[in-house]
Amino acid sequence: MTQNMKEILVTRSSMPSFEEYMEEIRPIWDSHWLTNMGPKHAELAEKLREYLGVERIDLFTNGHMAIELTLQAMGLGQDGRNEVITTPFTFASTTHAIVRNGLEPVFCDVDPETFTMDPDRLEEKITEKTCAVLPVHVYGNICDTEAIERIARKHGLKVIYDACHTFGETVNGKGVGTFGDASCFSFHATKVYNTIEGGAACFRDGKLGEKLYNLKNFGIHGPEEVRAVGANAKMNEFCAAMGLCNLRHVEKEIEKRRQADLRYRTYLEGIPGLQLNCVQPGVRHNYGYFPAVFDKEIFGADRNEVFEALAKHNIGARKYFWPLTSAFAAFAGKYDPRETPVALKVSENVLTLPMYADLETEDIDRICEIVVVCRK
Ligand SMILES: *Cc1c(COP(=O)(O)O)cnc(C)c1O
Repeated sequence: MTQNMKEILVTRSSMPSFEEYMEEIRPIWDSHWLTNMGPKHAELAEKLREYLGVERIDLFTNGHMAIELTLQAMGLGQDGRNEVITTPFTFASTTHAIVRNGLEPVFCDVDPETFTMDPDRLEEKITEKTCAVLPVHVYGNICDTEAIERIARKHGLKVIYDACHTFGETVNGKGVGTFGDASCFSFHATKVYNTIEGGAACFRDGKLGEKLYNLKNFGIHGPEEVRAVGANAKMNEFCAAMGLCNLRHVEKEIEKRRQADLRYRTYLEGIPGLQLNCVQPGVRHNYGYFPAVFDKEIFGADRNEVFEALAKHNIGARKYFWPLTSAFAAFAGKYDPRETPVALKVSENVLTLPMYADLETEDIDRICEIVVVCRK
C-alpha cells in the first residue's frame, strides 16, 4: 500500500493510555464488584452531573436504552394519547425507541440549516393523540428549544431530546442536557465522549428518577424487595471506569476536533454548491461530525460520486443519515418520506467526512483535495 493509500475511517474512538485504564480498573479487580451500581458507576454519575451542569442524571448500558426507558418511565401512551412527534433525519434508535414503546412516530420536517426539528412545521403535526415531542440535536446543532418548548407547553406535551450528538455542549453557558423534561446522551465508542458503550438520561422530575432506576434494574431495591417490573440496562464498572478516564481528556479532545473542523473549513468554506455545518451563536460546539451537503447542479458532482472518489482512496465517508428512518425497510409502506421534503433532500445529498480528535492535518488536506477535484 502506498503512503497516500493509508486507510482513513470516518471516526476513531478516543481512548486513554493503557496504563491509565489499568490503574482505573485495579480497584474493580481487588473488590470483585463488576457491576450493579458499584463505586465507579456512582463516581461517574456524579462527575457527569457536574460536567453536564444538570440536576439529575442516571447512567445506562447505552444511549438507546436511555431514550427508550425514559419514554417508558414517563408512562406515555397510558392515557390513550400515543403519538410522538419526532424527525426522521436521525439514527435508527430515536424512531425505534418510540415504536418499541408501542407509540406511533409522527414525522416533522427539519430546518435546512441545522437539520433539527423545524418548529414552524411542529404545530400542524399535533393532534388530540399527541403525547410528546422527541426532537434530535443533529451533528452538534442544537434544536430551537425555545420555540419547541413554547409549543409543547401550550399543548401539554412532554419534551424529550435525543442529545446523543451534543455531549458537553452549552447554549449561553447552559448545559444542553438541561432542556425539556429529559435529554438523553450516548457514550457509544463512536461518539465524542465514550464509555465503550453507555448512555445517560438527564431529567427534571425527581419522581422520574425512581421509575428509571426500576426500569434499568428489574425494580430491585434490596435482596427481598422488588417494587416494579423493569428490564436490565445498568452500566457496568468497566464502562464507568473508561468513562472516568475519557472524561479527564474530553476538553482536549474537543479542542483537537475544533482544530480539525477549522482546517476543513479553510479548504471547503465558500465553495459554491457545498453547504457545511452552520455556526450557532452562543453555542459551545463539540465538533462531533463534519457534514457536507452537495448540490449537484452547482457543485458539479453529487454526494455519491464524492463518496466513491473518497472510497477509491481508502477514505471512509458516511451517508449519515441516509435513508431517513421513515424510509426504513422495517416500516415499508407505513410512512411517506416525501412528507418531510427538507429532511429527504438533505439525506440524499449529505456526506459526513472523517472526523476525530487525532485526524491528522495532512489527511484533512488530502480529503479536501479529493472532494474539490470531484467538481467538474
Ligand atoms: C448514537 C445515537 C443513538 C444511540 O446511542 P447508542 O449508545 O448507540 O445506543 C441515538 N440517537 C442518536 C442521534 C445517536 O447518534
